Amino acid sequence: MIRIGTHLSISGGVSNSAVEADRRGYGAFQIFTSSSRTWKQRLPDKSDAKSFSDRIRSRGIVPFAHIPYLCNLASPNRDVLGKSVIMLRDNIESCNMLGIRYLVLHLGSHLGEGSNTGIKNIADSINSVRDSLGELTLLFENTSGYKNSVGSTFTEIGRVIEESGSEGIGICLDTCHAFAAGYDIRDRDGLNRMIEEMESNIGFDRLGLVHLNDSKFDLGSTKDRHWHIGKGYIGMKGFENLFGEGHFSKGNFVLETPANDDGDDTTNMKAVRAVLKKVGLERDVVP
Ligand SMILES: [Zn+2]
Repeated sequence: MIRIGTHLSISGGVSNSAVEADRRGYGAFQIFTSSSRTWKQRLPDKSDAKSFSDRIRSRGIVPFAHIPYLCNLASPNRDVLGKSVIMLRDNIESCNMLGIRYLVLHLGSHLGEGSNTGIKNIADSINSVRDSLGELTLLFENTSGYKNSVGSTFTEIGRVIEESGSEGIGICLDTCHAFAAGYDIRDRDGLNRMIEEMESNIGFDRLGLVHLNDSKFDLGSTKDRHWHIGKGYIGMKGFENLFGEGHFSKGNFVLETPANDDGDDTTNMKAVRAVLKKVGLERDVVP
């Protein structure tokens, strides 16, 4: 079974995103549960939250939440770290109100203090919120390998999971970030190298979501610049290679491709469907 969709706006109320996902025929989608640009996170109002959760449950659509990029659980700066943990708590509460079972978070930056410090700060933060998780799983997303970032390799993400106590934790694979970090998923050898590293350090049972993004920059650029499916350096062949591999022939896939024009999401979803058709997976897509 394959569920695909895009990141959607919550403008006008979070339940609008569920209506839109349903209208577009998505099997999965992703939202920010509050403003992605402010530290202060608003909880959804109760009736809006109920319409959201009623809609996704009745239609069998799987929603994902993404924490805002301001959140830096690896930060050595006490003020930023404190605000990040509050943001995480608020996001967990919103997800539980909305019936969302997965929250994606970037592992942040250690700002030059070294990855050990970063990993310890993340693990302490996760442990401090664990009791509030309930049914929610936190998905650690791989990063593009920009300077001082934590989590650009699956070996390092495996360490973070281990230090964080592993319960209630999964991962989100971002194809653009992996490619920017040097995993050449376009060819069989490069993809196999990534799969082996994921398998031995994390395990595929923890893969909750794939962010399907092409990359505006070339292999190993460390630049986090998502691009339209098939139009970047990964290209249609690269995505065919990915979906053609058994580990990625099922699961949840969300696009975070640029959506400047109304038609961008439609064009990118069509490109993904063309890839799925090419590798014979079209019939596995739900709904
Ligand atoms: Zn992503």
